Amino acid sequence: MATMFSFDLEIERFESVRRRLSAKCGSVFWNERLDPLSQLVRSCLGARTYDAVSWKAFFTLTDAFPDWNALVAATPDQVLSHIQEVTFAEDKARHLVSAFRMIKARTGGLSLEFLSTWPIEAAHIWLEGLPNVGPKVAAAVLNFSTLERRSMVIDTHVLRVTARYGLVARDADIRSAWGSLMEMLPEHWTSRDLANFHVQLKNLGQTHCRPVGPDCGRCPLADDCAAKRSH
Ligand code: SF4
Repeated sequence: MATMFSFDLEIERFESVRRRLSAKCGSVFWNERLDPLSQLVRSCLGARTYDAVSWKAFFTLTDAFPDWNALVAATPDQVLSHIQEVTFAEDKARHLVSAFRMIKARTGGLSLEFLSTWPIEAAHIWLEGLPNVGPKVAAAVLNFSTLERRSMVIDTHVLRVTARYGLVARDADIRSAWGSLMEMLPEHWTSRDLANFHVQLKNLGQTHCRPVGPDCGRCPLADDCAAKRSH
């Protein structure tokens, strides 16, 4: 059974990681947030696609469909013509139309605002029932959007860093890592703290903790990193 002492140690461990990442990469300020439906579109387009490309596709799509209700009536080909440059564009066009039709069929409208008061696990299950929505996209809708829910967004960079450093199991997948981190993250960390932590870990994964040839020598987490110790 976890004692008060072990809880304090766990919190200090996260605070220590956050301090070192903040010193290295600074903090992120989230001024503008998308509504949850728009964030769903944005996150779906962003999968395995560079941010610059997916943002461009997102704005092209929002110009073509200024009212998301029109997306419900659109064909996948109509959507595809605006998002050609993203990875797996055909699949994403099909999934987006299906997801929007499913949201309308399930809720009678086109809004995800009702998720603002649901328990976070239930909100995840509901979102992950949509076509091609996994734990990463669900967490992004809940955390990055105007819903500002307390859910940690874990992408491949965050997964790699947290697994190598030792915050989650080495063989964790995104779903199990989400479960572990949501149990361990300090309770006083807000949804914005979680968003900030996501960006800091992602930055570290893109710069130092790369998939191949991590630059441990200049990594701010090197002192107590499990993977570095085992080299
Ligand atoms: S010390 Fe190396 S393996 Fe550990 S988190 Fe930093 S870059 Fe990754």
